Amino acid sequence: MRRPPELRPGLWDGAVVLVVVLLAAACALALWGRGGGSALTAVISVDGTETERIALAGLPETERVVESRGYTLHVHLTETAVWVESSDCPTQDCVRTGHISRGGQSIVCLPARVIVSLEGGEPAESGVDAVIG
Ligand SMILES: [Zn+2]
Repeated sequence: MRRPPELRPGLWDGAVVLVVVLLAAACALALWGRGGGSALTAVISVDGTETERIALAGLPETERVVESRGYTLHVHLTETAVWVESSDCPTQDCVRTGHISRGGQSIVCLPARVIVSLEGGEPAESGVDAVIG
């Protein structure tokens, strides 16, 4: 009853474990960097479909013209904030929402069915509940 030598934990098993641990650490670091920094991403959705993702880090002030359902929204983006500069929708709620600057916040234009939301950034301690409520 000799034990087959293949079943002994060998050098390769150690190497595999090491690689897995390193990969896990790299993933954790990437996620931590994403969630802990100010890497905000603006997500523009039209009629329920995501049309554009814009990373805000290092972004000079940018304007995106979003057209939907006969309305035109002028969305401005900077490194730290996003807002609807002007819109020809009847309610103007999107314009009145003003600047959003934290992950979890969003600007909604109901008549045009446009949603501009922010993802990432600093972990929202109190922001998420306030925005949803
Ligand atoms: Zn609007």
